[in-house]
Amino acid sequence: METLHIIGGGMAGSEAAWQAAEAGVPVVLHEMRPTVGTFAHKTGDFAEMVCSNSFRSDDDERNAVGLLHWEMRAARGIIMTTADRHQLPAGGALAVDRDGFSQAVTAALRAHPLISFAEGEITELPTDGQWIVATGPLTSGALADSIRSVTGADSLAFFDAIAPIVYADSIDRSIVWAQSRYDKGETEEEQKAYLNCPMTRDDYEAFIDALLAADKAEFHEGETAGYFDGCLPIEVMAERGRETLRHGPMKPVGLTNAHRPTDKPYAVVQLRRDNALGTLFNIVGFQTKMKYGAQTEVLRLIPGLQGARFARLGGIHRNTFLNSPTLLDDRMRLKARPNLRFAGQVTGVEGYVESAAMGLLAGRMAAAEILGRDLPPPGPETAMGSLVNHITGGAEAKTFQPMNVNFGLFPPIEAKGGRRGRKDRYKAYTDRAKESFTLWLDAQG
Ligand SMILES: Cc1cc2nc3c(=O)[nH]c(=O)nc-3n(C[C@H](O)[C@H](O)[C@H](O)COP(=O)(O)OP(=O)(O)OC[C@H]3O[C@@H](n4cnc5c(N)ncnc54)[C@H](O)[C@@H]3O)c2cc1C
Repeated sequence: METLHIIGGGMAGSEAAWQAAEAGVPVVLHEMRPTVGTFAHKTGDFAEMVCSNSFRSDDDERNAVGLLHWEMRAARGIIMTTADRHQLPAGGALAVDRDGFSQAVTAALRAHPLISFAEGEITELPTDGQWIVATGPLTSGALADSIRSVTGADSLAFFDAIAPIVYADSIDRSIVWAQSRYDKGETEEEQKAYLNCPMTRDDYEAFIDALLAADKAEFHEGETAGYFDGCLPIEVMAERGRETLRHGPMKPVGLTNAHRPTDKPYAVVQLRRDNALGTLFNIVGFQTKMKYGAQTEVLRLIPGLQGARFARLGGIHRNTFLNSPTLLDDRMRLKARPNLRFAGQVTGVEGYVESAAMGLLAGRMAAAEILGRDLPPPGPETAMGSLVNHITGGAEAKTFQPMNVNFGLFPPIEAKGGRRGRKDRYKAYTDRAKESFTLWLDAQG
């Protein structure tokens, strides 16, 4: 039987190796550590947690990441089942003893009769055989160069510059209005592609004061400032001068407030649709290193966003990731070289759990292909399916940035408004997802 090769023994590669081997396919896991290190990894263990020791919320009824835990447990994932055995008390979160956890994943992989190991850096994308590339946010330079030579220079980013993403239903439509600058666009949809939040001079000055005073996160070692040119954080722009933002992403020109046409806004914050479903909007040009708590407070000063809920907050990190919506098919294969699958953070998901989940899918899909079957992804109403659907097509390719799992990626379920309504709606999402995911698993026998 054909062997599956996996590059990278992190969250995604470890899970992919386990899933494929459990399906009966022989696997070779290629890992460069400890011979070649990264600035974040400290050991030679598989599935090392490079920073926090938490897999985030374990609430599988009302939280999307908790639901992803549930799906990974249902699929007998090595990452979740090992995390459960090394759990530490952490309220509703799934936190683990990081060394015990990664040592146990390493031991389980090493003990598997169908998994063998090749230590060393892979420097070129392989041309034949079945491969999964799961080399993560810190993919080695030589391999990144090789990926770029196949995918095109603009298709692989080395830093993310994440603008905060807002749930559409938390934006106050009595304040914002839909309009593209100078009504540009052929169709009405294009002419109304942006939501605009108007600011008076007082609003703007208060916003700048709060932005300058907010707590900011430090850059990690190895994160140079050389990437800044195209994506300055808003606080850095504000530090350069109080008017800089008003002449940059917050410029008020070419826009007329549909609610108060005679009021000329002093500044405007624009939101742009972030997914095909229209459930998520990103704040245009608002990449930031503000700490999460401060970020929420400052962003809620923007008129129209007082009650905003965030699907993800902004950030800037060293992060190698593909423009997956244009490059990968829905089986996670590189369209240009379908013998290569990608998995984990390099596909543009964000987080340990999401990365491991994409490894789980890629491992199962690659194994199915080797065994002569075709495995479609789980439905978009599941956490795993919503993520893979987002990165391989649902996301806007032009502005694609890494994404956490969140309910905004799911096909909407209508519910009564208000807090109670939302809680019920999340339960309805997770019930629907569990039913669909179980059917997907059952179909694989
Ligand atoms: C500094 C930093 C902090 C982070 N903190 C968190 C956090 O607190 N919580 C969270 O949920 N997520 C965090 N992330 C994001 C992300 O979820 C993790 O990086 C996660 O480990 C990604 O899983 P992965 O399998 O895609 O990549 P990794 O877990 O990084 O695995 C990739 C593996 O590939 C190997 N590799 C790379 N290139 C090659 C090559 N050419 N040949 C052979 N092997 C290679 C690497 O050594 C590594 O073992 C952080 C990321 C970074 C960079």
